[in-house]
Formats: sequence, C-alpha cells, structure tokens
Amino acid sequence: MTIRPILIHPDPRLKTVAEPVGEITAELRALADDMLETMYDAPGIGLAAPQIGVLKRLLVMDCIKEEGAAPRPMALFNPEIIWASDDMNTYEEGCLSIPEQYAEVDRPAEVQVRWIDPSGAQHEEHFKGLWATCVQHEIDHLNGKLFIDYLKPMKRQMITRKMVKLKRERARA
Ligand SMILES: [Zn+2]
Repeated sequence: MTIRPILIHPDPRLKTVAEPVGEITAELRALADDMLETMYDAPGIGLAAPQIGVLKRLLVMDCIKEEGAAPRPMALFNPEIIWASDDMNTYEEGCLSIPEQYAEVDRPAEVQVRWIDPSGAQHEEHFKGLWATCVQHEIDHLNGKLFIDYLKPMKRQMITRKMVKLKRERARA
C-alpha cells in the first residue's frame, strides 16, 4: 500500500465529474487500499479518488471516532444516493483538499446509498449522523463539488485565496 499525495484546491481535477468504474479489478482494489491508507495517515474520515487525481467514482470512509472502537474501513465504487431525508443536519465540515478550513454545511440528515464493494457485490445502507454527512461530502467530490461550494461567495473566495497562498508556500518549500 502507498500513501498518495492529496491534491489541494484549487485544482481542475477537483472540479471534474468522475467516470463510473466497470468491473472491479485487482488494480481498483489496490487503489482503494492506497486511498484508505492515505486517509488514515492524513488523518481524515473520508477520501474520494479525484482528491488523489484519479477521476473514477470511488470513495473510502471510516467515521468511527470512539476511542478503542474497531475501525470500519469502507470502499464504495459507483456510490449513488437513492433516497435523502427532508430533515436536514448541520455539521462543521472540513476537507483534506482544503486543509485547516472549516465551515458549517446543511445536508439531508439521513441518506440511503447504493454501491459496489471491492469484491464486486452490490450493497445498500442507510446512513445517519456523521456517516451521512461524510458520504454526501465524498459523493460531491465525484461530481466535482466541494463543501465550500455551499458557502457564500465571499467566504468561498477567502478560503480559495488562502489555499492559493498555501500551495505557493508548499511549492517553494
Ligand atoms: Zn473533501
């Protein structure tokens, strides 16, 4: 397994709609493993393939946060939201592609999601709480959308300027 570099906003690849995957090959399974390792290393609770520059519909997540609880690494290929609650929930979101910036985002509190797992089997699950927010945030990445796209233009532009500066500093280092 390999830790992959995570793209930082702004980057055209983070604004691109990712392609569905076909058959789940060994290569795709290895990609999912790399993404999980990259996510845990960051550390983060979710990562979408476009964030490492791979424009495929794959995300990984693990929202278990309780101390001492067993991890639940999940890899979702071609995830689809097939139902969303009218009830909304607000979380302060962050993103590994927008380091150290956080903002409140409203999203449906519960969602039903369908996806293909690394063995090629189809799954469906009802997510709520942090899991629901996380899976929606990551599916947004597959559609070229970032959490800052939900913010007012002024706030979004301020964060983008900070990221441009951060990238410039990192390029110099
Ligand atoms: Zn993100």
